[in-house]
This record gives sequence, structure tokens and C-alpha cells, in this order.
Amino acid sequence: MHFKFFISINVIKVWITETTNRFIFMRILITGGAGFLGSHLSKRLLNEGHQVICMDNFFTGHKRNIIPYMENSNFELMRHDVTDPFKIEVDQIYNLACPASPIHYQHNPIKTIKTSVMGAINCLGLAKRINARVFQASTSEVYGDPSVHPQPEGYWGNVNPIGIRSCYDEGKRCAETLFMDYHRQNAVDIRIARVFNTYGPNMCQQDGRVVSNFIIQALQGHDITVYGDGQQTRSFCYCDDLIEGFIRLMNQDTVKGPINIGNPDEFTILELAKKVIDMTGSRSKIINKPLPADDPRQRQPDITQAKEFLGWEPEVSLEQGLKPTIEYFDQLLSESGA
Ligand code: NAD
Ligand code: UDP
Repeated sequence: MHFKFFISINVIKVWITETTNRFIFMRILITGGAGFLGSHLSKRLLNEGHQVICMDNFFTGHKRNIIPYMENSNFELMRHDVTDPFKIEVDQIYNLACPASPIHYQHNPIKTIKTSVMGAINCLGLAKRINARVFQASTSEVYGDPSVHPQPEGYWGNVNPIGIRSCYDEGKRCAETLFMDYHRQNAVDIRIARVFNTYGPNMCQQDGRVVSNFIIQALQGHDITVYGDGQQTRSFCYCDDLIEGFIRLMNQDTVKGPINIGNPDEFTILELAKKVIDMTGSRSKIINKPLPADDPRQRQPDITQAKEFLGWEPEVSLEQGLKPTIEYFDQLLSESGA
């Protein structure tokens, strides 16, 4: 009874802060703003009337993702690398800059870890100087190949510190450490979200992550490449749900995180392949390829905290989210004549 009361007070507090913030227009920096999630976040913040400064080095981001906002006087694009220091006056910072797909973050692992660590230091240093609130897009990869299932925030993880995924996993873990230390030592106002596999329109055609790979392969009638036996699991969150979670975490004062944001509906990779074939009506065959090193066997977020403190849980099922994602790639492929 007492617990329930506590939960509802928190949900009401979140709602009041969120509603108030909707009417306060802020200047907001998004690093990695031309990427998949950055472009959705830009759209959401512009729709709420905020000024958005999008910083990107276009490693995996695309102008195509932000072209719709270029004419908006509240939107500003800044080509800059987050590893180089920057000065700018803003109220909030969302730090999303970092390649998220294994093939991209493994392409230049030293640059990947520098992006996470030096990017975090630059964002935190700026936030400290200008007294801004700063948000870190962390990842479920901080749990590595988890031995606890589903993964709650209190689980410290099972990460290989010297493997091919380590540049990303350890970079993100170090960024979380920096966020917590800047908060404890310098009272920087931080928020940390641990993002679980998220998909949707605006993913890059060459992204290499499983949802975009399978959809493109199915639409082109190519073989669907399942790595390993396909029995490994992931829990897929649609981008709109995730962005709602970001906004709620950023604009409340109850928790700083780290907090899991993801969809707990868990699927094997083989199930995903079959669903994509089914929904595209493709004749593609499923083939097996070697499982990459250190590929996590299972992943599912425990979102108890997000429910309690943010009043958040995902609303879009995998099937509902795959539909607009398939439409997006279908259009992209026909535009590029592929
Ligand atoms: P993405 O690759 O589409 O976007 C990353 C963006 O960061 C790109 O626009 C890229 O050009 C930019 N970038 C990379 N290095 C940079 C640098 N040094 N300086 C400036 N910009 C740089 O990936 P995404 O899926 O949109 O991911 C966004 C963030 O969310 C990342 O930090 C990622 O680690 C995190 N995340 C995403 C997922 C997911 O499933 N989408 C899961 C966990 C964590
Ligand atoms: N995967 C796959 N075929 C692909 C791409 C990925 O079977 O063409 C698998 C991959 O081995 C992993 C899962 O799908 O088990 C999710 O991979 P992704 O790269 O999307 O994200 P992450 O491994 O970082 O969760």
C-alpha cells in the first residue's frame, strides 16, 4: 500500500515536471544529432518548441536524417568531432555521439573509445562550466554477456575488457564512471540511460545491425544472414518509445540513473528473421554465418525502475514497429535504385 503510494507520487511528479518543461523553451545540444536516434530526438525537441544544436562528425550520421529540419530556424547544424573541446551556451546536453553498430565501432576501435571517453569529458566539462544538465546515452553493453537475466541496473555485468567489443563496452562503462564522478565531485547535473537494442526509420542503410540487415536482405531477396544458430536473444525497442523514455528521464528530478530504457519483449534472432520474411513477403532463405566473438547470448532489460520513476514503458510491439521500418527501407532502396 505504502509502496504503491510512493510509486504514484513519483509518476505524478514526473508528469508535472514534464508538462512544465514543455512550456519552457530551451537551447539543447545533441551530440551525434545526425544519427539514427539523434535525428528522432531532434524532431521531438523541435516539435516541443526548443532550439536544437546538432553536433556531428558524420561518421555514421547522415545529412538525409536532418534535411527535414534544416529550414527550421530553431535548428542549427555544427560539424564537429566530440573528442575536440567545444564551447557553447545551452541549457541541456544529450551526449549521443558514438557509433553504435558493431561493424562501425570495430572499424576504428581506438577512435571509438576516444569518442566515448573524451566525448564524455568534453560534455561534462562544458556542463560544469555553464551549469547545464547533461544526459549520457549509455548501453546494455555495459552488462556484456550477462549471467543475470533479465538485467537490472544493479547488475555489474560480465564484460571482456580485451575483446573486439571492448572498445565500445569499456568506453561506455568509463563514460558512466566519468558521469558519476563529475556528479559526486563537481555536482554536475547528470542523467544516464542504458539503451537496449533500438530500431526504426533513419537507421543507416549500411548500419550492419540485425534489424536493418534483415529488412534490407529480405527486400532485396538476398539470403538472411543469421550469425551462429540464431538462438541468441535480443529485446527490440521502437525508436519513438525510446525517445519518450529519454525525454522523461531528462526532465524529472527524482532519479539520475543509470536507468534501463528498452523493450522487455525478448526474441531469438531466428524468430526475428522469420518475422521479417513473413512481413515483407520475401522469398529470401535463412543462412547461417559464424557468430562474432563475445556476442552476448541473451539480453532483456528489467524496466522496473523506468516504470516506477518515469512512469514509462514501451507501447509499440515488434510487429507494429517493424511496419514503418520496412516501409522506410523500401522507400530508401527504391530511391537509390538498389
Ligand atoms: P548512430 O551510429 O546512428 O548515431 C551515432 C551518431 O554519432 C552518428 O551521427 C555519428 O556520425 C555520430 N558520431 C560518431 N562519432 C562521433 C564523434 N567522434 N563526434 C561527433 N559525432 C560522432 O547510432 P544510434 O543508434 O543513433 O546511437 C546513438 C547513441 O545511442 C550512441 O551513443 C549509442 O552508443 C547509443 N545506443 C544506441 C543503441 C541502439 O540500439 N540504437 C543501443 C545502445 C546505445
Ligand atoms: N546478427 C545476425 N545477423 C546480422 C546482424 C546481426 O545474426 O546480419 C546478430 C548478432 O550476432 C547479434 C544480434 O544479431 O547476436 C544483434 O546484433 P546487432 O549487431 O544488431 O546488435 P548487438 O549485438 O550490439 O546487440
